[in-house]
Amino acid sequence: MKSKIISEIKFTQQPESAKLSEEVDTISERDSFLQDQNQCVLCGSTLKLSHKIDHSQLTASEKADCIVCQISLRRTSATLH
Ligand SMILES: [Zn+2]
Repeated sequence: MKSKIISEIKFTQQPESAKLSEEVDTISERDSFLQDQNQCVLCGSTLKLSHKIDHSQLTASEKADCIVCQISLRRTSATLH
């Protein structure tokens, strides 16, 4: 019953630690949405995402670059609470 235990652990993971696992059995609506957001609207390539967290200013920014088009498509920032 090892597989049952593993799946239970997976569902209790925090979003941060869930990134560490590349194993995806089911794609949730959220993941599906994120996949769409992770593709270049111009060429359809997977975007290179980078996150930067500034602890001193308590802000987090996200950047999405298309390596093929060599453009930055998205840049968001949010204040951490
Ligand atoms: Zn592109």
